[in-house]
Amino acid sequence: MIRAELLLTDLEEVATLDRGPVPRTGARMRELGRIPDAAIGMDAGRVVYVGPSRGVGRRVSLRRGGQRRSLRGHVIVPGFVDAHTHLLFAGERSSEVSQKIDGKSYLDIARSGGGLFSTVRATRRAASSDLLTQALGRLHRMQSYGTTTAEVKSGYALTHAGEIRLLSLIPQLERRSRLRLVPTFLGAHARPPEFAHRPEEYVRAMVQRTIPEVARRGLARFADVFCEPGFFSASQSERILREAGANGLGAKIHADEFVPSGGARLASRLGARSADHLLATPPADFDGLAKAGVTAVLLPVTPFASLSKHASPGRPLIDAGVAVALGSDLCPNSWVESMPTVMAHAVYSARLTPAEALTAATINAAHAIGEEEHAGRISAGREADLAVFELPSVEHIAYRMGVVPVEVYRQGIRISPR
Ligand code: ZN
Repeated sequence: MIRAELLLTDLEEVATLDRGPVPRTGARMRELGRIPDAAIGMDAGRVVYVGPSRGVGRRVSLRRGGQRRSLRGHVIVPGFVDAHTHLLFAGERSSEVSQKIDGKSYLDIARSGGGLFSTVRATRRAASSDLLTQALGRLHRMQSYGTTTAEVKSGYALTHAGEIRLLSLIPQLERRSRLRLVPTFLGAHARPPEFAHRPEEYVRAMVQRTIPEVARRGLARFADVFCEPGFFSASQSERILREAGANGLGAKIHADEFVPSGGARLASRLGARSADHLLATPPADFDGLAKAGVTAVLLPVTPFASLSKHASPGRPLIDAGVAVALGSDLCPNSWVESMPTVMAHAVYSARLTPAEALTAATINAAHAIGEEEHAGRISAGREADLAVFELPSVEHIAYRMGVVPVEVYRQGIRISPR
């Protein structure tokens, strides 16, 4: 007999995402490992039973003081994995929305000292306690929308000490929020103003000093580069990521966000863990991503929030056999904390089916940040990270727009509502 502290029964369905290869590609992105009329038992932070609800009482018994609840009309999915966030920043840029509406591009705003550089100034000035408070507020809202695991990038300090300070805050955020956080070093987010005309010196400083220190202190799992004209060239990006790899960090690339910059091709050549954005990637480069096993992390809210004409190329990437994952790109330019909102954009602008969007927001996103063994699926023995929705099927999460779970569990503990 299996013993459980909490047993949820009579669910319309559970999408386990626990069958098939990881990451999922092609037609397998629509296979959700569904169990209709399901029950889930949790004990000591882990799932101990996931299977038919009928007859569950003969297989699972409640511990003393345990709880059994019928959740007819509800579905359960793995807690969402947000594979790309710029969570650690100070301030906000609401005034830029009207500039964008008046026709200024992200690059126009950045070149006039606004945009990213105004966030860099605010983040450099902010006390660590303020950065923590602001980031924790974002994490609490993210978890209320069902996220239980998130990648977190540095990148708004653009100095050696500043980037290290940002990364050092992430373990504290993980403890205080209860979410699973995966840190990424993004010192190559932009050329810092001090190095605007001597980018090579900044690249050299990162390669010779910052990356080795980040790796030695265990402050990041991945390194990421913004590979784009005016930011970092493909060859600078390659040097940074090769040095990161030599220091044991995985590679991620902000690839081809504005123009074809060779980012996707570089990701394929390096065998990067992910290539992100891909808004301007030539379709001829998709095959290389598929062959190299690079996961495409799409951030479909970003072009929407940037009033860009581009849309994330979800359909052609999946058709080319590339594993597609999703992230929010949470940052002052595209401030979205809700993965269900990201999933709806993945459906209606990037043309993923609702089932593909769920795969992309769970098991494939977990793979994109190296957490596929721990996050993005539901099975007996794994940590109980789950989101419960009052919906007739799991497709409704991405079919409707911006739905909110009624309960979210992380390691078997209800973290929302708190
Ligand atoms: Zn980004």
